[in-house]
Amino acid sequence: MALEIRPNCEYCDKDLPAESTEARICSYECTFCAACVETKLQGVCPNCGGGFTARPIRPVAEWRPGISLAKRPASSKRVHLSHDLDDIAALTARIAGIAPKDR
Ligand SMILES: [Zn+2]
Ligand SMILES: [Zn+2]
Repeated sequence: MALEIRPNCEYCDKDLPAESTEARICSYECTFCAACVETKLQGVCPNCGGGFTARPIRPVAEWRPGISLAKRPASSKRVHLSHDLDDIAALTARIAGIAPKDR
């Protein structure tokens, strides 16, 4: 198993290519841009209620045989929100004050 490396922010649809340093992921790999995580989501994943971390950048160079961005390419399947914005705002407001380890 490897990260899919999803191509966009679920919230604002901004492109988040594999080399982006703005991509944030939750433990299920729900993927958002850093700006949405901070300003729209208060650090709460609207799909699972968990926290986020920066998405690691997959190496372009094939440092080990068969292991590189070209050999294990990023996903091209765009993902969009599965809840409406009011529902997301209500959920994230409820959860934001709880530390990720206690959620
Ligand atoms: Zn975004
Ligand atoms: Zn999630």
